[in-house]
Amino acid sequence: MKVAVVKETAPGEHRVALVPEAVAKLRAAGLDVLVETGAGAGAWLSDDAFTEAGATIAGHDELAGADAFLMVGRPDERRVAGLHAGQAVFGMMALLADPGFAERLAETGATTISLDLIPRTLPRAQSMDALTSQANIAGYKAAVVAADAFGRFFPLLITAAGTARPAKVLVLGAGVAGLQAIGTARRLGAVVSAYDVRPETKTEVESLGAAFIELTSVGSASGEGGYARALTEDERQAQQEELSGHIARHDVVITTAQVPGRRPPLLVTADALKSMAPGSVIVDMGASTLGGNVEGSQPGETVVTENGVTVIGAANLPSTMPAAASSMYSRNVSALLLYLVKDGSLAIDLSDDLQQGIVVTHEGRVVHPALSEAGG
Ligand code: NAD
Repeated sequence: MKVAVVKETAPGEHRVALVPEAVAKLRAAGLDVLVETGAGAGAWLSDDAFTEAGATIAGHDELAGADAFLMVGRPDERRVAGLHAGQAVFGMMALLADPGFAERLAETGATTISLDLIPRTLPRAQSMDALTSQANIAGYKAAVVAADAFGRFFPLLITAAGTARPAKVLVLGAGVAGLQAIGTARRLGAVVSAYDVRPETKTEVESLGAAFIELTSVGSASGEGGYARALTEDERQAQQEELSGHIARHDVVITTAQVPGRRPPLLVTADALKSMAPGSVIVDMGASTLGGNVEGSQPGETVVTENGVTVIGAANLPSTMPAAASSMYSRNVSALLLYLVKDGSLAIDLSDDLQQGIVVTHEGRVVHPALSEAGG
């Protein structure tokens, strides 16, 4: 079986799906690994490093006959045009939000496997959980980005030139990324508070040395599978109003709130932004083209409000740490690949609950329950 590592073409994407260490593991399992010329360059991995690990370097078209394509994101149109039945594409493709692209992939006859859909509660899927590995990186980097943009210290500093009080950091949303942001801000010496609609996060927040903020106006919003449910309009307003008072008292706010399949909840309104002191910093990890956790934030853009608050719309933070992110993703994707390979070829079995979660197209059809229900 031939496995091809594709050079990512999305703007700003520096990660690569497989690192040389994993090439050796796949070869030991009897797989041949082809790597597209320059695929690892963004993560400081040379073609020579892949060759030394036993891979073959090949051009775009030479990869066309591979049995499986490993990617971080989506295949571009040129790659999609060359796909055919019997081939498989692995990546984090965000297809639930783009059923049209899932249809396009189905038309090729290829099998599409999207790692962002891994059922996270299955213990055997943990090593394949790319959402978690990449969210950990994003959470760490969000705290570092905030510290970089903040014009004061994070830690308490007592010097002959005066004493600096520690920064007060508020993390909204304490999932994988939020907890990593809390831990990182704490390690930098900030005084950290956090809030999440899932009350079960309280003990996790406190175990990292941060204070958990409990809102009196909104009850538990724990949803299915460990995720949050969307709030009602009344709950949303009550939450925004009560949060505003807390936001105003903090120097730095990092927002990470997401609800599966929905636009990220708005947590920091324009009024809350106005209540913050000049020099405050917000990093919005929920920033998306549909809107983010912070009013007016745009992915990849930094704006300074009239009252001097720097709002950073995060865009693909894992890609800004391409070496770490590629190495972790590489473990996730190779664990998944080895799970699916039986006797030297991919054995797709849609009665397996793990595979049901991640296989989006197979044998010319969109087979994922969340998409085929929607009329795919
Ligand atoms: P996520 O990225 O979907 O959301 C981030 C956080 O935002 C969540 O904690 C969520 O509760 C919070 N949130 C949503 N709406 C909010 C609002 N209006 N106000 C405040 N906070 C809000 O979540 P995630 O980081 O991917 O993790 C979600 C869950 O999955 C967690 O329970 C995590 O422990 C679980 N998980 C389990 C496994 C496993 O079992 N192996 C692996 C990874 C994650």
